[in-house]
Amino acid sequence: MATHTTSIPATPDVVIIGAGVVGLWCALKAKQQGLSAVVVDKGRIGQGASGGVLGALMPHRPVSWEDVQTFQLEALLSLETEIADLEAVTGISCGYSRCGRIMPVDSDAFLAEHEQWQAGSTRFWPAVSRTGKPISWEIMRGAPDPAWPTLKPAFVAYSFDTLSARINPRRLLSALASSVQPEVVVVENCLAVTISNDGEVLLADGTRLSPGRVIVAAGHESFDLLQPVLHCSLGWGVKGQAVLLRPKDRSFANMPIIYSSGIYVIAHDDGLVAVGSTSQRAFTDGDVDEAVSQKLVQRAVELCPGLDGAAIVEQWAGIRPRAAGRDPLIGPLPDASRVILASGGFKITLGIAHRMADAALAFAMDAPCELPDSFTVQQHIANCRSSDRY
Ligand SMILES: Cc1cc2nc3c(=O)[nH]c(=O)nc-3n(C[C@H](O)[C@H](O)[C@H](O)COP(=O)(O)OP(=O)(O)OC[C@H]3O[C@@H](n4cnc5c(N)ncnc54)[C@H](O)[C@@H]3O)c2cc1C
Repeated sequence: MATHTTSIPATPDVVIIGAGVVGLWCALKAKQQGLSAVVVDKGRIGQGASGGVLGALMPHRPVSWEDVQTFQLEALLSLETEIADLEAVTGISCGYSRCGRIMPVDSDAFLAEHEQWQAGSTRFWPAVSRTGKPISWEIMRGAPDPAWPTLKPAFVAYSFDTLSARINPRRLLSALASSVQPEVVVVENCLAVTISNDGEVLLADGTRLSPGRVIVAAGHESFDLLQPVLHCSLGWGVKGQAVLLRPKDRSFANMPIIYSSGIYVIAHDDGLVAVGSTSQRAFTDGDVDEAVSQKLVQRAVELCPGLDGAAIVEQWAGIRPRAAGRDPLIGPLPDASRVILASGGFKITLGIAHRMADAALAFAMDAPCELPDSFTVQQHIANCRSSDRY
């Protein structure tokens, strides 16, 4: 395994463990707050779940609205301008677009559900985005929009919302990494082995860091890393797989995200189309399974015949952080208040990581922070203790 040769400051304001999307947003927010920060990653930047190919930014369904949905909606709305700022500072395009989402509706029963969601969208969503673009949810009966030639035709209707967006996850990580350096020291190939109750971090090379605060943004590995401090495991990893395709023609350019029964088809601005994703709680490794990729391609072609004959450019697998309480997990640990956990974004992290980072930094600076109760570490611990699985 490669080891780093970077000289690491021993007492920065913040040490961030993990250079995925959560850790790097935390680094950027720390820099913006004028804090000295170090990010350590056991491997490369983006080698975890964040370095994938999909990049869907999809809102929760607008029904039974609670503060969790409000948090995500606010995050999705604010991301557009945060990305514009990031792109302006770095000159790196993150491939962000509020491209919208089409969901084919293939039965009358499902149509009734979609009509409820549409009604919910007018109640809970704003009419325009922060940049003044309209936000809507339409139900289109009959033939799909002629601008979407790639969709299978025989559906009852199509739901189309203009809040959903997409981003290129790898370009986002590049932009974040570029925006924080050199002020923030980012150290690759640097494993954090343990964290003590008083926030001391022991690295694999024997170095001990004593920061003001530690933010643990180590994705699904956060749970094992903090087990000795918490005496319980607050979550687990869920493996997922996706493929990146090169369609035979450009008919996918400017397509909205297409979503049906757990399959996303996302046309990125480089002409490639990402298809995902699977969900596997039990797995032995994080490697790509060729048969799973083939199945994903087959399902994508059924949904979008225009993808027939597309070349597979890349097969990709990653492990998502899934908190036992399902919602994200952000905040200081009860018996180790200098240690702040920021993980558990599961399937929606790319759209909320900047707001998770705002919250983590507020905790690091002892500033007020309003979060849904279900995000707090205390609530997640309570969930674990009341569940006989833990
Ligand atoms: C197939 C698939 C498709 C997905 N699609 C989407 C999508 O379309 N939209 C969406 O919003 N989300 C999606 N997700 C989920 C999303 O990618 C993850 O939830 C998110 O990337 C998690 O980010 P993170 O920063 O918490 O963790 P990670 O990106 O996993 O980063 C954690 C980092 O911590 C490092 N690390 C771990 N342990 C240590 C240690 N002890 N010391 C130092 N470093 C350590 C790791 O090397 C890693 O780089 C998808 C996930 C998968 C697998």
